[in-house]
Amino acid sequence: MLIDLHCHSLKSDGKLSPTDLVNRAHEMGVNVLALTDHDTLNGLSEAKQQAQKHNMQIINGIEFSCVWNGMGIHIVGLGFDHKHPVMVDAVALQESRRQERAVTIAARLEKKGAAGIWEKTLEISNGAQIGRPHFAQALIELGKVSNMGQAFKKYLGAGKPGDVKAQWPQLNEVVEWIVQSGGTAVIAHPDSYKLTRTKLKLLIEAFMAAGGGAMEATTATMESSYRARMNELCIEYGLMASQGSDFHGPTPWCELGRFNPLPETVKPVWSQWLWPSRL
Ligand code: AMP
Ligand code: MN
Ligand code: MN
Ligand code: MN
Repeated sequence: MLIDLHCHSLKSDGKLSPTDLVNRAHEMGVNVLALTDHDTLNGLSEAKQQAQKHNMQIINGIEFSCVWNGMGIHIVGLGFDHKHPVMVDAVALQESRRQERAVTIAARLEKKGAAGIWEKTLEISNGAQIGRPHFAQALIELGKVSNMGQAFKKYLGAGKPGDVKAQWPQLNEVVEWIVQSGGTAVIAHPDSYKLTRTKLKLLIEAFMAAGGGAMEATTATMESSYRARMNELCIEYGLMASQGSDFHGPTPWCELGRFNPLPETVKPVWSQWLWPSRL
């Protein structure tokens, strides 16, 4: 059984359609997949339809943007009722916030000399929920930078003009949306926030106080020493452990279903909804 609980389609900042994503996951041997697009559920029904053809299971998923201590944090929601009014309203709110934020980012980049950035980004995003990677691509196509890394370093990364997060809700709010709609909230890619051990513990405590239940303890890019620390923290705090590639599209460093397995010592997040006998 191969389970990947974190990936993106072109309904947010991924490169593949939900259909192509599910086909690729199937080719990679994935049996259970959560599509976790940023702040949208637009790919869910297409993914489910395609998954039926391969006898794969799709777990309802999303990756919410929020802030904690002024820092941008991603919280994955898994296994919620996608028709629950709390989730439906939350997603609509996040989608409109993302749209407003995109307008603000465009205005800021325009001021920094990226003329035509809005039109270019709209063309690239082509109806998806607009994210910074779309702006990064637009900056490349406008000749302002030569690659994605440079786009984030100069324009879009933490503290740069295109790093707009004022619209995002607080951590506790997004955790509550997920829990109220019957799902499990998961701290996404804890290695990406560059937190000290003390700060990470504070994040975990705030997250759990809001009802959060799990943390990603293995991803395609998480280093082995960090994975060991995350497994220890899951055990120390009684958090379930989640796993996922965070696949956005074919690259040499990330593939669907490819990450180191969780150790036997942690409780996997899927134990609660897949094989109840394991509880
Ligand atoms: P947003 O959802 O608009 O805040 O954009 C965040 C997304 O940008 C993340 O989910 C990643 O897919 C991508 N990202 C973040 N940092 C970088 C980076 N340094 N280089 C390339 N992509 C990045
Ligand atoms: Mn992304
Ligand atoms: Mn993320
Ligand atoms: Mn992600």
